[in-house]
Amino acid sequence: MKSDRLRIDATSTDEEVRASVTEWVTEHVPQAWRDAAPDGRWAIREVRPRRDYEAWYPTFAASGLAVATWPVEYGGLGLSPANAQVAEAILAPLNLGRLNPLGLHNTAPALFAHGSEEQRLRFLPPMVANRERWCQMFSEPGAGSDLASLAMRAERDGDEWVLTGQKVWSTWAHESEFAICLARTDPTVPKRRGITYFLVDLSSPGVQVRPLRHIGGEIDFNEVWLTEVRVPDFHRVGAAGDGWRVAASTLAGERQMVAGAGSGGVDRIGGGGIEDLLKRTKDTGVGPVERDRLMRLYCEEMVRTWTNERVRATVKTGETPGPAASIGKVHQGQLNQALQLAATDMLGMASVAWYRSDRAEGKDLLETWAAGMPHAAKGMLRSRANTIEGGTTEVNKNVIGEKVLGLPREPDPCHDMAWQDVPR
Ligand SMILES: Cc1cc2nc3c(=O)[nH]c(=O)nc-3n(C[C@H](O)[C@H](O)[C@H](O)COP(=O)(O)OP(=O)(O)OC[C@H]3O[C@@H](n4cnc5c(N)ncnc54)[C@H](O)[C@@H]3O)c2cc1C
Repeated sequence: MKSDRLRIDATSTDEEVRASVTEWVTEHVPQAWRDAAPDGRWAIREVRPRRDYEAWYPTFAASGLAVATWPVEYGGLGLSPANAQVAEAILAPLNLGRLNPLGLHNTAPALFAHGSEEQRLRFLPPMVANRERWCQMFSEPGAGSDLASLAMRAERDGDEWVLTGQKVWSTWAHESEFAICLARTDPTVPKRRGITYFLVDLSSPGVQVRPLRHIGGEIDFNEVWLTEVRVPDFHRVGAAGDGWRVAASTLAGERQMVAGAGSGGVDRIGGGGIEDLLKRTKDTGVGPVERDRLMRLYCEEMVRTWTNERVRATVKTGETPGPAASIGKVHQGQLNQALQLAATDMLGMASVAWYRSDRAEGKDLLETWAAGMPHAAKGMLRSRANTIEGGTTEVNKNVIGEKVLGLPREPDPCHDMAWQDVPR
């Protein structure tokens, strides 16, 4: 992997970074993808099936460009934020999305802020290379918005912990090797103080992953049952009982990602952006009402971009964006839903009616229906989750109210009560 890495670092000039990245793109990014880039993401998607991208991805990871500001020993190039921006300006039009987003955005921030050096060296390089894929097991049937009331138990047994309980909504658990997981290690203290943060190997005995089908007919998330799963103490991040603080790094990274302020090139969650819609409606033509709708969406999209740039700038100064990421998250959720709905309306029948007749292949009706679904319909259905995932809009508004505007906290009569005594 080392020999394929670009020979630039934090001391390189803008010119050196530009030359090195341009040369790498010419040598390593397939010609057809480069040719499609000026026509935007839709055009790139046409010539770049996901399986081709996954097969090519190790080349990108080995260059160090996927996480350019990370230190070399963790899989990056150690570029300064300003250098990385120069590199990103060349890469962005190629839409080189980073694979393993729940590793890069949810797990890595916790390891950087609270993990040991041994843990970072063990887990970050295979994460960058997408050799070990990650998912997040925080939510439970009785603990979503009120995550701190989670009930999964973890008990210490020598150099190991034994975890038992149920998680739900665990995105990509069915195709991940590892999960970040919160469990209760001390039920005798108030809920936020008795939680510990673990890295769980999903191939461990006692892990059962049950896929759930979503509104678009596909499988993205799962319920996961842990029955006396043994986790080595080396896989504990932060001190026992300090998991709530560790989880804060993960949740801020997640809000950033869902808001679209993650590392450059990450695909928008749930359909294409305003540029895609403008491009597609240019050929068909639109009336004055649609024109007005497109303009409003375009302005909102600009606000979203600038909000995310502010959050990114905070991250680049080495600070965590904290509650400010909630602003982008709330805005992005609502905007993306409006955008996807507009796309469905404006693209007409092509986005709402489809038929596929390959039931003979042994697929059930739902799978057949989902497989034939046009991109616009998929984007519209998927976007319904944008105001729930990564913390609901209502809960993020509470965060903004309390932490950004300084309004009084929501009353919580059980705040100082031991978790085990809280009525439920
Ligand atoms: C597509 C998708 C993927 C997800 N992926 C993951 C994942 O990978 N890992 C993971 O751990 N979790 C994941 N989640 C779970 C997600 O974090 C939770 O769904 C979310 O936090 C809400 O929790 P809940 O579903 O239990 O709803 P609840 O907390 O039960 O909320 C129900 C309703 O009550 C409102 N509400 C609750 N509390 C308040 C309050 N204090 N003030 C005002 N309104 C309130 C909510 O806004 C909501 O409308 C995913 C969710 C979705 C939709």
